[in-house]
Amino acid sequence: MILLVVPRTLIAAPVAAWAAWTSLFYALAGSAVAAAPRFEFTRMVAHWADYSDPGYLPFIEEAKPEVVQVGFYGAHFWSLADTPFGGGYPAHLPARGHRQCAEWFSQLNADLHRRGAKVIGHLNVKFLVGDPDSREGPRGFFRFYHAQWDEKLLGPKPVSDPVELLEKDRFGQPITDHNYNIGGMGEYWACLNNPHWRQVLKSWIRYGLAQGVDGFIANYFYRHDCHCPLCVAAFRQYLQERFTAAELKERFGIRQVDTHEFGEIVGWHDPGRSTPLRREMLRFSQIANKKAFDEVFLQFGRSLKPDLIVAQWNHLGDFNQINGDERCLLPAELWGRDEDYLWYSTGDAANSTDLASGVLGEATLQARYIRGAVDDKPFTLGKYEATRIRVAIAELAANGGAPMGFYADFKDPETRREIVRYYGFLREHERVYRASRSCAEVVLLFPRSRVHDGDVTAVGRFKQLGQRLLDGHVLFDVLPDDRATATARARYAAIINSSDPQVTAANVIERLPSDLSRFEAPLRVRVSASRPAPGNEIAVHFVNYNRQEPADKSRGGNGIKEEKPIAVPIFQADLKLSPNLRVLRVEFLDPEHEQPRETPFEQDGARVRFRVPEFLVYGVVRVQFKPAAVKKVAAIVTVYHHNSHAELIAGRLVQTDTLDGKGKDSALQLVSLYTDQSPTNDLSRRLAASHGFRLSATIEDALSLGTGHLAVDGVLLIAEQGDYPKSATDNTQYPKRRFWEKILNVFRADGRVVPVFIDKHLADNWPDAKFIYDTARELNVPLMAGSSLPVTWRRPPADVRRGAPLREIVAITYHTTDAYGFHALEFVQALAEQRQGGESGIKAVQALAGAAVWRAFDQKTFDTELFDAAWRRLSQPQHRNRPLREVVREPKLFRLEYADGLRAHLLELNGAAGEWSAAWRYADADRLESSLFWTQEGRPAMHFTCLLHGIEQMMLTGQPSWNVERTLLTSGALDALLTSVKDNGRRVQTPYLSVAYQPRWRWTEPPPPPPMRPWADP
Ligand SMILES: [Zn+2]
Repeated sequence: MILLVVPRTLIAAPVAAWAAWTSLFYALAGSAVAAAPRFEFTRMVAHWADYSDPGYLPFIEEAKPEVVQVGFYGAHFWSLADTPFGGGYPAHLPARGHRQCAEWFSQLNADLHRRGAKVIGHLNVKFLVGDPDSREGPRGFFRFYHAQWDEKLLGPKPVSDPVELLEKDRFGQPITDHNYNIGGMGEYWACLNNPHWRQVLKSWIRYGLAQGVDGFIANYFYRHDCHCPLCVAAFRQYLQERFTAAELKERFGIRQVDTHEFGEIVGWHDPGRSTPLRREMLRFSQIANKKAFDEVFLQFGRSLKPDLIVAQWNHLGDFNQINGDERCLLPAELWGRDEDYLWYSTGDAANSTDLASGVLGEATLQARYIRGAVDDKPFTLGKYEATRIRVAIAELAANGGAPMGFYADFKDPETRREIVRYYGFLREHERVYRASRSCAEVVLLFPRSRVHDGDVTAVGRFKQLGQRLLDGHVLFDVLPDDRATATARARYAAIINSSDPQVTAANVIERLPSDLSRFEAPLRVRVSASRPAPGNEIAVHFVNYNRQEPADKSRGGNGIKEEKPIAVPIFQADLKLSPNLRVLRVEFLDPEHEQPRETPFEQDGARVRFRVPEFLVYGVVRVQFKPAAVKKVAAIVTVYHHNSHAELIAGRLVQTDTLDGKGKDSALQLVSLYTDQSPTNDLSRRLAASHGFRLSATIEDALSLGTGHLAVDGVLLIAEQGDYPKSATDNTQYPKRRFWEKILNVFRADGRVVPVFIDKHLADNWPDAKFIYDTARELNVPLMAGSSLPVTWRRPPADVRRGAPLREIVAITYHTTDAYGFHALEFVQALAEQRQGGESGIKAVQALAGAAVWRAFDQKTFDTELFDAAWRRLSQPQHRNRPLREVVREPKLFRLEYADGLRAHLLELNGAAGEWSAAWRYADADRLESSLFWTQEGRPAMHFTCLLHGIEQMMLTGQPSWNVERTLLTSGALDALLTSVKDNGRRVQTPYLSVAYQPRWRWTEPPPPPPMRPWADP
């Protein structure tokens, strides 16, 4: 054994630092340190290569990840950027030369920031490529250190000879390898226990930050069998802190730790040949690395940039412990502490399937382990998956992780399209994902304490139990057993301890309570559940691994073309709920459909049953609950008689959503009613008596319930039928403004407002509509209005693609222009607002009638192909076999000119059409879509329930479900169109309709309607 002669100072400094750090750590661990708010994100992409491709930034722009992991700022950069070998593995640097390459990254970071992403750079913390000396002198890292270290940029060199920084074998020689043979250079490892090396890392961090990154991920986070004097001294100190002299002698045969010579101080090693001392060496390695990480990235890095995002790139494989996983022996309280997200590579352990043998190629267990080990902090998995792109994204999303296109081949159009589609889905439904928490019934304990004792057989049992629970569709979490406190255990109906040899894959299911949730899903579907952060709902996630496999199963596949998912047929789900929860609605989402689908359900006590629709790879069921307390609502109406709008809307609050007392209760309670007129067929007097709501003689009383103060949580303003005069343009002058001003008086007197819903238009004329809108804004009244047509059924289900450039919309309407034409304007506007840029306003309108309409057909002044498509959607066209010009005696054509160039044309075709439909054409691709806007023309007129759902949401949350600006526009457009009708088709300029807004709403497909009853029925 060669004893190295080391200057005293070099040993003393780090040992003192070690002791200071360990005591600081335990002090911190014992107290609750005020933590910064978590950096939450749901979508990331990472690239190590190909990011200089011209398609990369456009891909980022489309996929819209929140976090982009790209670029090199550590040893790869400084070893290789100035060599001809930086362009290949492992660095893939885009430019040659330190300065040029840094400038390139700096530009990239700015480009990514402009696209709204945070940039995390890779920082290789110790893997050095180069030769300390060669015929050409020092090469790679060593050349950089000797000749290219710029003290102006990096500060003074910590040592003059870089060999001092290296990991050494027990003979004092640098540990070296030639695995990659990059440019014929050797491979070396810097020692993270060396304070001088940490100084180098700090210089690199400072330099990386100057290039504009938001954070770093530490790569090559290893410790080998380093015998440098610092490692030896630190390991001695580690042992002394943990064991008495007697214990050291008894357990490890170490008589005199100060002078003991260690033949090895290993890191990872073969678990079959593990010993208590080797595990102490490994634990020392992992704690030492964490210490280096904390000093360099957390303390130093965050001293420069307080919101620096930090992570480690670690390896889990198939739960390789002791011979893998950089955290396997870390104490629970150090595990992932202060890191912003966790990255674990599963390598090739989870990216090929053998479905017949039950191998789904999944990392579900790994994901749940990480989720449980770090209390649901953001994490991701590196699966090196280039084929099953969709299922890899779904697996992470379903299990609380942040999907991740690692090495995602954005140059392949199909891969790119699916990543964009799936990331768009996660973004659209961000409410379900961001900061969500797991919601499971059972917990499977990961035997981490057994691993710490060197027993990895329990890990094998854990994997078998996990597979069985996954196959059984049990909703379960994974929790490391050292984190399973009594409080944590109390959250579950059952605890499965994989350290207990009595529990086996054969008997684990029968040990579970019999009343857990049940899913009749196929074996190749995985189920999980989460609790979205905004609360009051549960999301159940289904991931389908079934696919047509390549002939050679051992190879994962050759790109997304070989993902070949096979859709899951409809199956039954039976979810157990906490007692007292009442389900409000169930909605199904999947990335293959733009619209959520409302799903019928049955609640039976503390269980809810529903059928999960067919889906391809990923489906999410949102089970939304009624708020514990219902909201009290006043209805201010013109008249309340059978089939009046007042009865069809407010009636659902007293007679359930099917108007017969047999449907679903509303979350709203009708507490008072004001009717402006009381015709002989009035129903309200009788209903008030039987249902116990207050009949108010004044609007003020309806809102105050006789208390003198505002006493309701919301107001319905419904003015549609009744005996009222007509305006000069033949629009019925319902007293909307009068009602509104009375409501405002109560708000003003009380200094408080509640949400108001106004049925149909805001008012029959523009000044009143604008007045209502302006005063609502002035007092911050949550206001919503409109028709049920935007929210009703569409046959087929279709909507304008959000953000798509739109050229023209053509719609068909019928009946009177003021009453039914308004409904058409509403659904047209609900389509239009989804287009690229959102709504920009209407600059002019024109109403043609009679022969002028047929001339417009002949001259094709609108897109007649769109008309044909809309016409074909009508389910009951009248006189189909006779020319339109014969059957429609008084045709009308309404033209809307939008500020951004969009055109909409509405054809009122009484005599031929008794339904509403529309077709629209995109500007980016010559593609059109069309749909029928279906209403249930009989009791219970279920489209009013769709409308009520939107109203309920607003009353419950205080946030309008859709923009009131939509109805401001349609109210103004209707008024202007009626003026044009009166003025014989004059084009009416509408500069006052320059109403711009971004839609806050998307159409959701409602569940099938209940059977229809005649209008005359109760
Ligand atoms: Zn060392």
